[in-house]
Amino acid sequence: MGRLVIGCHLSTSDGYARMGATAVSIDANTFAFFTRNPRGGNAKALDPADVAGLRELMEREGFGTLVAHAPYTMNLCSAKASVVDFARRAMADDLERLESLPGNYYNFHPGSHVGQGTDRGIKLICEGLDGVLEAGQSTTVLLETMAGKGSEVGRTFEELARIIDGCAKGELLGVCLDTCHVWDGGYDIREELDGVLDEFDRVIGLERLKALHLNDSKNPRGSHKDRHEKIGRGALGVETFTAVVTNERLAGLPMILETPNVLEGYASEIALLRSIAREAA
Ligand code: FE
Ligand code: FE
Ligand code: ZN
Repeated sequence: MGRLVIGCHLSTSDGYARMGATAVSIDANTFAFFTRNPRGGNAKALDPADVAGLRELMEREGFGTLVAHAPYTMNLCSAKASVVDFARRAMADDLERLESLPGNYYNFHPGSHVGQGTDRGIKLICEGLDGVLEAGQSTTVLLETMAGKGSEVGRTFEELARIIDGCAKGELLGVCLDTCHVWDGGYDIREELDGVLDEFDRVIGLERLKALHLNDSKNPRGSHKDRHEKIGRGALGVETFTAVVTNERLAGLPMILETPNVLEGYASEIALLRSIAREAA
């Protein structure tokens, strides 16, 4: 099945090349990072030498695709025009800056409709995306599967499919499946991973599945809570992640840990999942 493409969320505070070096130090060959401070404000311009350093390292170390994460406070379907406007401008700016690191993924939370209803939420998300996506951009934008906390849009595969279908530039969109979120959203990936993937394929199309977030969950299936747990310590258990990292349909997809850990914890989760994948090969 080839080498697992796995990493974790890293901080941009010491620059892009530094993130690459940190990833290598924990045997990661991909990683995630916030494209800007989640609490808003302007994003720093990227330093070309720093980005070139990362690109060279990724080439040398055979990295897979990176999975950048939009600020989680960004809401394309807020009821407040100013919030929607900020989300659109932030996403456009992020995508423009990401072109200096071409060909990677940009993952975002579709949004919370805050009482306006799912239909209105989906309409606003599609309008936002249509205004922001640019034909010819090298970044694929990923909708993250959500737990369904509050009024989050994107808890079901049907909602994600409606966003993709409703967007005129849908060919630039993919999906990032978060294991904690789909479980909290009600999908039984613990007992029926293949059945859930079949359903994903039927509703969205597996060719849209571009990345995974690997998180155990502190809560039972369908809880809509979104509380991540360390791998093997939550409701999903290590068997679920064994099934994920050895599943042929998921082979080669970047897998990002967002578990409650510091670097050593990520290193040991990566080592664990790599050894499981190797044993199965
Ligand atoms: Fe996320
Ligand atoms: Fe996630
Ligand atoms: Zn989450």
